[in-house]
Amino acid sequence: MATIRTTCPECGEVDLTPESVMVSVHGDSGEGSYRFTCPRCTAAVEKRADRRIVALLRSVGVDVESDGPVEGLEALVPPPESRPAGPVFTPDDLIAFHFQLQDDRAVETELASLA
Ligand SMILES: [Zn+2]
Repeated sequence: MATIRTTCPECGEVDLTPESVMVSVHGDSGEGSYRFTCPRCTAAVEKRADRRIVALLRSVGVDVESDGPVEGLEALVPPPESRPAGPVFTPDDLIAFHFQLQDDRAVETELASLA
């Protein structure tokens, strides 16, 4: 398993596993930041990541989230480990929901049931 060596502002050098690091890439610049919880002091640490660091972290299996343009529907589907409980929301559900929204009475009933 790859080990990522970085520094915590409190503890100095710490070793992390790819699972404990999350990379965020801002826009299409390829740069961003990475976050981790320090294994020694449990502080939440966030650091800037240039393109080289992003590529390096990605190459050892770190999850990369991007707030840049979304490419395809796959990008909208979260990885299985972070998928919420319950049935998957399918395009069919979306179409059904679309027609439901056009039905004022159905919307009214739905809203009333939430109150
Ligand atoms: Zn620390």
